[in-house]
Amino acid sequence: MPFQEKNISHFPIIFGRNLLSEVAGFVMPKILVVTMEDLWPLFKNELPNEVEVYLVSSLERSYLESELPKFEHVSSIVGLGGGQAIDVAKYFSWRLNKPLVQFPTSLSVDAVFGHRSGVRENSIVRYVGWAIPQSIYIDYGIIEAAPRLLNVGGIGDVFCFFTGVMDWSYANRQGKCEKRWPYDDSLAQISIRKAERALNSITEIKNLTPLGIEIMVDALKWGGASYHAAGWNPRHIEGVEHFIFYALEAQTGKKFLHGQAVCLGLILGSMMHQQRTEVLLEALVQLGLDIRPESMGLSWEEVNSTMMNLKEFVHRENLPYGISNDFHVTNSFLNRARQQIESAFE
Ligand SMILES: [Zn+2]
Repeated sequence: MPFQEKNISHFPIIFGRNLLSEVAGFVMPKILVVTMEDLWPLFKNELPNEVEVYLVSSLERSYLESELPKFEHVSSIVGLGGGQAIDVAKYFSWRLNKPLVQFPTSLSVDAVFGHRSGVRENSIVRYVGWAIPQSIYIDYGIIEAAPRLLNVGGIGDVFCFFTGVMDWSYANRQGKCEKRWPYDDSLAQISIRKAERALNSITEIKNLTPLGIEIMVDALKWGGASYHAAGWNPRHIEGVEHFIFYALEAQTGKKFLHGQAVCLGLILGSMMHQQRTEVLLEALVQLGLDIRPESMGLSWEEVNSTMMNLKEFVHRENLPYGISNDFHVTNSFLNRARQQIESAFE
């Protein structure tokens, strides 16, 4: 049976303005607001005086567990932030069994639309938990005020559908799809349609018009919620581009803006597949989303050695089968990538 998109409709999303100041009127008192230190001063005046606030300092699961007893008395949880605050809000909501509403402050990642929380166990990311917010509030004013790079960086969690599907259909052609995730074209085509819509609306997204925001949110919701709806299957939503990002983090120990590093992986991955590279690169240039290594504190040498080790990395991490398992990374490939990316952003 073809996959039904309505399977992800249980993540209600409300668009509007001045939504945060409505919290006093509808969220059950004894509210815990989970946010970040730099965000709190920007928003505290819009929230009732009596809310309690939790400023996220760590994503370590054992640490979060030790914080739980402090908040057993709260009645509801409001997540307010980009990725980390949203993830901790989900975790607390799950572990304390309290209703949750989410206010993403940028379009940086798809975390707000996923059931599980990206916490860390000894610094290694683990996706655990179950949280479906009563509602997700997309406040245009809040999104518009976020740093540009955070918002446009969200395109990484949308364009990854392209390379994710390239990897999945590659695995299918090689007869190497995981048994639990046989290739499903109905699922793949929904991903492609959503990524195409974003690709064809780059100006709207660049200018963060209501339509541009709506297109991003619709795609990010797909990326977050369809993982579960497809039976905890990630194959239609991510692939080589995220694997390169994970490998960069693991190899260099550096932290990146998610969308920036994923989009570097996107272009390298699309070159490995020899599909869509020019059009994707052009879209990133239009968005002003710089993916040159130096823009994220990396050198080409670090990128090159990460790419040289990619095959070994995906094997060791037991990541889903794709182009990274077979592609022979050569010096001439790396030189071509460097030349293409550098000249695009000159
Ligand atoms: Zn991502």
